[in-house]
Amino acid sequence: AKGSCQIGGIASTNAGGSNVLLNGMARDNILGIEAVLADGRIVNSTNVLLKNNTGYDLKQLFIGSEGTLAVITRLNLKLGYLPPAKHSALLAVSNFEHCLTIKQQLQRQLNDQLSAFEVMWQDFYEKSIKSDYIERKPLPAGHPYYVIVEYNSGANPAFEDIFMTALNDLLEQGLADDVVIAQNSTEQKNLWAIRENIEPFRSDGNMVAFDISMPTKHMTAYVDRIRQTMTAEKLQLTPYFFGHIGDCNLHIIFTLPESSSITADDLDAIVYDNLSGLSGSISAEHGIGKDRLKYLPLSRSEIEIELMRTIKRTMDSELILNPGKIIEC
Ligand SMILES: Cc1cc2nc3c(=O)[nH]c(=O)nc-3n(C[C@H](O)[C@H](O)[C@H](O)COP(=O)(O)OP(=O)(O)OC[C@H]3O[C@@H](n4cnc5c(N)ncnc54)[C@H](O)[C@@H]3O)c2cc1C
Repeated sequence: AKGSCQIGGIASTNAGGSNVLLNGMARDNILGIEAVLADGRIVNSTNVLLKNNTGYDLKQLFIGSEGTLAVITRLNLKLGYLPPAKHSALLAVSNFEHCLTIKQQLQRQLNDQLSAFEVMWQDFYEKSIKSDYIERKPLPAGHPYYVIVEYNSGANPAFEDIFMTALNDLLEQGLADDVVIAQNSTEQKNLWAIRENIEPFRSDGNMVAFDISMPTKHMTAYVDRIRQTMTAEKLQLTPYFFGHIGDCNLHIIFTLPESSSITADDLDAIVYDNLSGLSGSISAEHGIGKDRLKYLPLSRSEIEIELMRTIKRTMDSELILNPGKIIEC
């Protein structure tokens, strides 16, 4: 929702994005909140202290609760400095295990200043670079995985050398098969456009997108499950996989042709049911809203759901705040 989201929405959905790896989710960047309760009372929790262990951290109830418990009216944010420079590179990788090793190695070599680690599966990359929106194809098609890495470096040229050395090591160790480094901000934008470009997935029909998470050790098994289900049920659809894999966050896009008899509900069932037994979440970033409500028990235990219901009924007994979202009462 870049360009349209507002601060209340960001807090209420505990939004994330591509730099969660370094900066955390919205929750990690909010120090205090003022909110209006369902009965009109104002809770002033506008804390500015980093350390404040004085009972329940009430602001955390309002963050990520999608406007179901209160209306947020003020926020105190934990502000940081903009990094003086960012470097991005695109890597071609032959297998998913290598992607995970690359992430660990870069975090170590870049002193934990790796700010983004985005993986695109081959189908996604190849469809994206064919689009007119992508001016240059930085790496050829044909590799199983493509990874965008971003490094928050200092202005000192020595930081650039650290990045170059780290990427060169990946090539020498055979962890990456090819690497291209963005040389300026235009090339950097072009690399990110490949990852953020959803136009090609919209142009052939209705795009249905998913946002799930799971431990990375289960990710290839999950991707295989989805592909096997598509084949077993003879569904003529390609699932396109990509995501903030540095945060265990996987996105899947399907494009449903106008004539398709498959519905978005059918795809919900395939994507969410296949998460079973993999310790995953049906929503990494996008929240529950009304659409995913019936799948909540796949990610939350009975007692957790009962506790959420108790909180909702206690704070909003007349169910006036976003009724029907997150939890049925
Ligand atoms: C295509 C797409 C891509 C997205 N990508 C990402 C992503 O990469 N990362 C990510 O984290 N999220 C993503 N989102 C989810 C969502 O859009 C973001 O979390 C966004 O920050 C929400 O902000 P908004 O202002 O658009 O909120 P809205 O959509 O206006 O509202 C979101 C919810 O918050 C409630 N709300 C809004 N303001 C307040 C307030 N002041 N007090 C209480 N409740 C309030 C609304 O009632 C609603 O339930 C994406 C969504 C879409 C549609």
